[in-house]
Amino acid sequence: MTRLSDLAARLAGLEADALKRTRRRLESPQGVSVTIDGRDCVSFCSNDYLGLAAHPGIARAVEEGVRRYGTGAGASHLLTGHTDAHEALEHDLARFSGFPAALLFSTGYMANLGIATALLGRGDAVFGDRLNHACLNDGALLSRATFHRHPHGDLAALERQLAGSDARVRMIMVDGVFSMDGDIAPLPELLDLAARHDAWLLVDDAHGFGVLGGGRGCLAHFGIEPSDVLDRVIYMGTLGKAAGVFGAFVAAAPEVIDTLVQSARTYVFTTALPPMIACALRASLALIEQEPQRREHLGALIRRWQAGVRGLRRGHALPSSTAIQPWVVGAAAEAVALSAALAEHGLLVPAIRPPTVPAGSARLRISLSAAHTLEQVDRLCAAMHEVDARHG
Ligand SMILES: *Cc1c(COP(=O)(O)O)cnc(C)c1O
Repeated sequence: MTRLSDLAARLAGLEADALKRTRRRLESPQGVSVTIDGRDCVSFCSNDYLGLAAHPGIARAVEEGVRRYGTGAGASHLLTGHTDAHEALEHDLARFSGFPAALLFSTGYMANLGIATALLGRGDAVFGDRLNHACLNDGALLSRATFHRHPHGDLAALERQLAGSDARVRMIMVDGVFSMDGDIAPLPELLDLAARHDAWLLVDDAHGFGVLGGGRGCLAHFGIEPSDVLDRVIYMGTLGKAAGVFGAFVAAAPEVIDTLVQSARTYVFTTALPPMIACALRASLALIEQEPQRREHLGALIRRWQAGVRGLRRGHALPSSTAIQPWVVGAAAEAVALSAALAEHGLLVPAIRPPTVPAGSARLRISLSAAHTLEQVDRLCAAMHEVDARHG
């Protein structure tokens, strides 16, 4: 019983600090107009940046996939779980991302763990931005390499750490788009540092793939040609966010991909994605390529939001040009109260609290999606002004 009462006390502490997380129950398809906990509302909560998570064409591709392959892969990729659907998708992903080879993983979390542990070991060194996603950090820890972290965006600190390291294998890890701040990593400068200090650069583009650079992601956003950086860059894109389905892929030089197939434990020792998911993803990738209007509309929504929140007194925006638009209010309880006030207007906007973001920087995280209308963004801005005036 004592262990259980320890847990109960810890949970009560989270509750008291406004840090206890709860799950909402979604009772409709993912999208911008959702039913959650019995209420219809407009959601600014998902990572479904292109509005593809409930696309009928992708659903049809799943149906065809089920008819052809059934539901389960039934084995790992290295046994009999690797189908021609997986292989075709990997070819599509390699071609679209501009790399010579690509490898599917079941999730981005598993991809990062697999990359880090397959390419690094004791005595090597990892260098990561403090705001990197938890799964990059977990990969770094699991790899047993020495883990150096630098303040967000502080390239001078990163360079000092690189210069001071005598590790033979080094890897810089970075979010292409930072998931809670929405800013884009300075990839040209990071590439330059990687070249001067002979390091890998692992780019986690969970929030850029499908959205930035014509859908190709943050490297294309900066005009970086994969063929010019094959000896340095390992690109990881996830497929459960803008692509609207599930999964992740790594694109890199063939030597890197072959190494992952041999020794990434999160690839080798796990069941392959259901082939129907690979079918869905091929359909999704075609939409990402062929419907640039989704990205154009998203850009218009971002500009509308940025103009619409000017003049608010409580909180401030961060310099983000992406679909992730933070509104920082500081205290966790304040973020929760603001989120609750917006919910009364039928607007679902998550409060992001520590430990997901540093203490004192609790915020709303507004995720815009190409499925939003300009009017829905106007509604959110009007509600923000109304709440601001009420609390002023
Ligand atoms: C969501 C996310 C991941 C994890 O991807 P999953 O496919 O959901 O496991 C990895 N990195 C970043 C930056 C993310 O935001």
